[in-house]
Amino acid sequence: VRDRKLIVLIIPFENRRQILVTHDATESDRIEMMRRDFVANASHELRTPLTVINGFLEIACAQPNLDVKTRLSHLKLMAEQGQRMQNLVEDMLTLTRLESVDYPLRPERVNIHILLDQILQDTQALSGGRHDISLEVDGPDIKGGTEELRSAFGNLATNAVRYTPEHGTIRLRWKLKESGPEFTVEDSGIGIRPEHISRLTERFYRVDKSRSRETQGTGLGLAIVKHVLLRHDATLAIESVPEQGSTFRVKFPRKAVCEDTLEKGTGT
Ligand code: ADP
Repeated sequence: VRDRKLIVLIIPFENRRQILVTHDATESDRIEMMRRDFVANASHELRTPLTVINGFLEIACAQPNLDVKTRLSHLKLMAEQGQRMQNLVEDMLTLTRLESVDYPLRPERVNIHILLDQILQDTQALSGGRHDISLEVDGPDIKGGTEELRSAFGNLATNAVRYTPEHGTIRLRWKLKESGPEFTVEDSGIGIRPEHISRLTERFYRVDKSRSRETQGTGLGLAIVKHVLLRHDATLAIESVPEQGSTFRVKFPRKAVCEDTLEKGTGT
């Protein structure tokens, strides 16, 4: 049968041979299942903030004379939930674009200093001085998609802030290794237990749902990272020790290097 992997089992039974024919789930069945899961998860994620917003709107209609302080606190909570929905929709659109064959990566020269300086600034702004954050750049520019890499590196750095308690350290590094350039984000945060590590890049997979939501996480960040890296022939390695911290290591192939910048790597 087209597209189907048939499995034929010949089972001897009471001197007769029985033939059992079954089939493996096809690639299209698997994709369809993933699509359904994605829609179900996304709807569930959108329902919670919508319920909160609708609840406060009902209160506002039923009690139009609420005092200014209460009303302001309701508006703030609604704005938070609105932001959560916006983050989710933006991450879903990014992921859909990254998966689409109609959206090819247009490789260009990625100015690593400019890109990582911006990521450092964004990370510091998100941390608001609660962490000790540093950046070290000692490697060449590469060929790739600047915006896609901004999104991937930004997600890793944002996670480091989200999952590292106050006064923790976050180290961003860009280095040229023998196998190729490497970007690492090392934090002294809450860490991840080994059984979760292989599932982290699945859409909506979170170790602790409530913590991720508190920090405005969508559960799609590492899925986006995975897809961006796939498009760059790069890989992600995760090392972590619970309660001590994590290191997310992105390895690019040597062919990604812009050879003319090799001698320009400097420390920041
Ligand atoms: P989220 O939006 O929930 O952060 P991600 O896809 O970015 O979603 O990450 C998936 C999960 O991986 C997170 O919910 C968190 O449990 C875990 N995680 C990611 N980065 C870190 C980190 N630096 N330290 C500890 N846990 C992390």
